[in-house]
Amino acid sequence: MECIKVLYDYLDTFLNFLYPRNIYCILCNVPIDRHEGYSICLDCKGKLRFIEEKACKKCGKPLDELYIIDKCPECVHSLYFYTRAISCIEYDDLSKKVIYDLKYHKKRYISYHIAEMICDRLIECNIYDFDVIIPVPLHKARERERTFNQAGIISKYIGKMTKTYVDNRNLIRVKNTITQNKLTREERRENLEGAFEVLDKAKVKSKNILLIDDVFTTGLTANQCSRVLAENGAVNVYIATLATGRNVY
Ligand SMILES: [Zn+2]
Ligand SMILES: [Zn+2]
Repeated sequence: MECIKVLYDYLDTFLNFLYPRNIYCILCNVPIDRHEGYSICLDCKGKLRFIEEKACKKCGKPLDELYIIDKCPECVHSLYFYTRAISCIEYDDLSKKVIYDLKYHKKRYISYHIAEMICDRLIECNIYDFDVIIPVPLHKARERERTFNQAGIISKYIGKMTKTYVDNRNLIRVKNTITQNKLTREERRENLEGAFEVLDKAKVKSKNILLIDDVFTTGLTANQCSRVLAENGAVNVYIATLATGRNVY
């Protein structure tokens, strides 16, 4: 496993050297201008729903224009272990395709462009004070099956872009949780109890951590990771993901 990972890392570096970016749109494959950001054509950019001004200051989910307070109703009534979560785009069929292509069609180069989007969003949201980047881990068995952790490779690029240390070994998933999709919120919460552990507390203590994942849906997974990090002494845990859904209210 370790050997394969190292091999993939070399392969990524090699492909980065060979693969000229921004030639085709990562969504619809049309040829694009070299300077088009995120390797997404203007047409697809227009269709993606980028989250801008109007978003919850806690969970980062988009808010309606007419909504007057800065937290969504769910965050007004809940307590979380993380400091703040941010996302770049709304989770819909188009953003789902980006994630699906990376995760299941194994188009690893997409992770670079996701990292670019997340870095821009971090700047927009004035989040700079993180000391270490940690990806939401997969269970070893799941990672073996998928051959890589998408959050891990996105983290690697964010680390390079922001010149921040990436620690992808210290936070581990000890419980191979069943797929969350079909569970109720309460079942999801139970499913995640005791799912994560920190191996070396010293690497987390007194740190500001940026936790990375592809999607933020209920936020329960990210919150559970944040809980374990906070219990091990982390000062702030910021969460950054590519996509998030809207809360219905
Ligand atoms: Zn396109
Ligand atoms: Zn919220």
